Amino acid sequence: MGDEEKPRCSGAWTESRYQNFIISALRKATGRWGPKNYCIKVASDKAKKLIESDLVKYKEYLTLKGKFKTGPFICEHCNTIQMASIPTPKDSSSKKKSISNKLSDHIEPIVDPNVGFTTFDEWIKRGFPEKESFQALCHACHQVKCKVETKIRTDRQREEKGVLKGDDYKLAVRIEGKIVGHIKGVDGGFAYFPKGKGMPRGYIFKTIKECENNFIEEKAKIKLKNK
Ligand SMILES: [Zn+2]
Repeated sequence: MGDEEKPRCSGAWTESRYQNFIISALRKATGRWGPKNYCIKVASDKAKKLIESDLVKYKEYLTLKGKFKTGPFICEHCNTIQMASIPTPKDSSSKKKSISNKLSDHIEPIVDPNVGFTTFDEWIKRGFPEKESFQALCHACHQVKCKVETKIRTDRQREEKGVLKGDDYKLAVRIEGKIVGHIKGVDGGFAYFPKGKGMPRGYIFKTIKECENNFIEEKAKIKLKNK
């Protein structure tokens, strides 16, 4: 880990830290990107029209208005009347009393979770598209979408690294039929846990291949020791 190459910022930053720095600046700029607000305006107009023409919806709106005060819009996913801000849900990490419920979402995620980051050009193209590429979502729908994307992304990353996590992978290390320890999937790779000891044996294998190679070496070492 310590000997990672640091070609950026006068030798202080790795390529990935540099990449994260630029992307975080770009991400902030997407908030000021005009076309991003268009879907919010459409969703608010839609809600106003619906409230005006539908008595049931109007009553629904009045109840919401009593609770939340801020303006209504239609979430393009659950298709319900939503208010622009709502009390912070219990499972949220936010310390604020209320959170924004009116989110302009990139229909196609800026970074495709199936592919990952490619180039800054591609990021900019996907991050600043025209108005048709955005949808107004409520907080709950946005959360669900994010969770799905996160799952796709982490699964892909693990697959790329040949790494599984936690209980996904556990291999008993046997010497002449006796279990002498386990190779277990841990965060970032695989570790060897000798039997009866909770701590890994000082190293983590990054890939399944590496793990297999070292597993054979380790097995041989134990075998020699015991003889
Ligand atoms: Zn929704």
